[in-house]
Amino acid sequence: MKSCQWCNAQFATKVSYQIYCSPECREQATKEKIAERYAVTRRQKRHGKNRNCKSCNTKLSVYNDELLCDNCLVNPQDVLKALKEIKGISNGKPFETNK
Ligand SMILES: [Zn+2]
Ligand SMILES: [Zn+2]
Repeated sequence: MKSCQWCNAQFATKVSYQIYCSPECREQATKEKIAERYAVTRRQKRHGKNRNCKSCNTKLSVYNDELLCDNCLVNPQDVLKALKEIKGISNGKPFETNK
C-alpha cells in the first residue's frame, strides 16, 4: 500500500513510480506544480530586470508594477507630460516637426 501524494489516501499499485491514487489527484498536483513554477519564474524575472521610473529615472522597487516611482505617482500632471515626451522619442519622431 502507498499513500497518495495529493490526497493522502491509501491505494494499492503495481507500478512503483505511481505516487497518486487517481488520475484526478495527479492532475491536481500537476496543475499546482505548474502554477507554483509560474509564480517563481515571474518573481525571478522581475528581480533580474532593472526598472527605472519613466519620469525621474529612479530605480523602481520590484514590488512596484507602475512605470513610475512613488514620488512621481503623486504628481500625475507632470508625469503625463513626461510620458508623452518619452513616447515621442521612442517613436523616433522629433518634437515640433510639423510646421
Ligand atoms: Zn489521491
Ligand atoms: Zn520618478
